Amino acid sequence: MKGLVWWIFAGFVAGIAFGAIFGQSEIAGVKAIDILKPFGDIFLRLLQMLVVPLIFSTLIAGVVSIEPKRVARIGVSTLVLYLITTVIAISLALSLALIIKPGVGMSLAYAKEATVSQPSMVDVLVGIVPKNIVDSMAKGDILPVILFAILFGIAISLVGEKADPVRRFFDSFAEVMYKLVELVLYFAPIGVFALIAYNIGQQGISILIPYGKLIGTEYLALALHALIVYSAVVILSGKGFLNFWRAAKDPAVFAFASRSSSGTLPITMRAADELGIERSIYSFTLPLGATINMDGTAIYCGVCAIFIAYAFGIEITAPMIMIIVLTATLASIGTAGVPSGGLIMLVMIIGAAGLPIEGWGLIAGIDVIMDMGRTCINVVGDLSVTSLIDRFER
Ligand code: ASP
Repeated sequence: MKGLVWWIFAGFVAGIAFGAIFGQSEIAGVKAIDILKPFGDIFLRLLQMLVVPLIFSTLIAGVVSIEPKRVARIGVSTLVLYLITTVIAISLALSLALIIKPGVGMSLAYAKEATVSQPSMVDVLVGIVPKNIVDSMAKGDILPVILFAILFGIAISLVGEKADPVRRFFDSFAEVMYKLVELVLYFAPIGVFALIAYNIGQQGISILIPYGKLIGTEYLALALHALIVYSAVVILSGKGFLNFWRAAKDPAVFAFASRSSSGTLPITMRAADELGIERSIYSFTLPLGATINMDGTAIYCGVCAIFIAYAFGIEITAPMIMIIVLTATLASIGTAGVPSGGLIMLVMIIGAAGLPIEGWGLIAGIDVIMDMGRTCINVVGDLSVTSLIDRFER
């Protein structure tokens, strides 16, 4: 397992190089990256395959092991910390975007027609309560699964001795799921290589030029947020700065390659384990974070909104900024942890801020590049807050 980490990292670096060099090359009339694509897809599917049973079993096992009152306390402090870090993220993104001014002088010829509808926030909130848990599991709707697992775990605790067989069953189920994660990871070096090579190759490096300022602003905000905010959180958590970043490297690489917080969840959980975080805590905070805590997505939304305003020569007013802060925070909660989930949410922000929807078409084409970085930060954010919660609970 130890050596595997380096193989995964090698796959990551080789994937970037391969995508950049051979992205457009063809072998017997077929694009090289298209040959690699199925390997990446298989790996992503393997990770996604783990998500629902992993969350379900580990969350039940975790909730059962702590008293109901403590579950409520952990829940509230996790939500508050997730929210605070997200608001800082969007504020930082807006400040940087206003200084760097991406979008000034942008050629609007790149704008494509936008045809997406705006998701309603109320529907997202009501949807947290499952109508049918099997249906939610089948669809991979994480929040309803989390809610059901928490309630189920509390019920087991309340029943007491008579529920012992159920408790033991989920305990052992969770152990088996952790083992399955380990097995899937053996495929990771190839999977990561294929995913990265495909992402980079498909996007092409030349696209970066007209969008350089936008992408640069996003990545700068992401990096600063990680370096300042997460480092501060980690120092407060007492986990050790280097220790944390060493453990966070794996989920960060996976998130970058897979562009999915939910898909990365099994690896984020392993990293939390490595950091010595109590299982009953991370089995609760991480699935929740993978679904509702997306600092990277909030940063992306903020930077893109300002980019569109500059590109279309629209005056940026204080009320507009307020609306962007509010809607980007809501969007980061409502965004699904899947590739390009945030791109759909961006529609809501553009609409609410009164920006032209054609601006969305301007950005959609480069989403792969923008998604890799933001997903990476989404995942590291979950891990850092989880470290701090672990400190509170000791
Ligand atoms: N891909 C991101 C994630 O899974 C969501 C987004 O598109 O912003 O975390």
